[in-house]
Amino acid sequence: MSNSVSIHPTVDKGIKAATTDFAGGTLLCKCADKPVKVTLSAQSAFNHACGCTKCWKPKGALFSVVAVIPRDKLKVTENADKLKVVDPAATIQRHACKACGVHMYGRIENTKHPLYGFDFIHTELSPQVGWAAPGFAAFVSSIIESGADPANMGAVRSRLKGLGLEPYDCLSPELMDLIATHVAKASGALKH
Ligand SMILES: [Zn+2]
Ligand SMILES: [Zn+2]
Repeated sequence: MSNSVSIHPTVDKGIKAATTDFAGGTLLCKCADKPVKVTLSAQSAFNHACGCTKCWKPKGALFSVVAVIPRDKLKVTENADKLKVVDPAATIQRHACKACGVHMYGRIENTKHPLYGFDFIHTELSPQVGWAAPGFAAFVSSIIESGADPANMGAVRSRLKGLGLEPYDCLSPELMDLIATHVAKASGALKH
């Protein structure tokens, strides 16, 4: 019955492909009045389903869908006063709307962090179509920490595979390699 597993509303009915030459758009929070608006001036990258307990996801979804964009391509353009950092001590500072709770972007302020320079975004908040499609699923085992049934994990993983979202219990190999390379260069283990 793996087909009945619901992952996230934007992937459950099949994944939309990105539009060639897509150059960005806007994100809006869920407030009917004075929504926070974020303007993105680039295509997103590394879009993926994430099972961690920290990413924002719509009510009832097992996974979030989260991508990155260079921080200099992201600007809060309307109602920035409604934003507040969810957990100032967290590595990724998630800027959420105080009124509706939606996370508008996550930012790493530690310049030594391997992923410094990437902001985390949810392109499902955008009225535009053509954003990078999710390509894998990260931190799959972590959905159990949010209350998912451990006995159902086989069905969840096979549903993810069926959608073309290879399930990993950390990030994808490409991202793990990128992080390890950064760490190795910082320590001197890797020279070039
Ligand atoms: Zn809002
Ligand atoms: Zn996450």
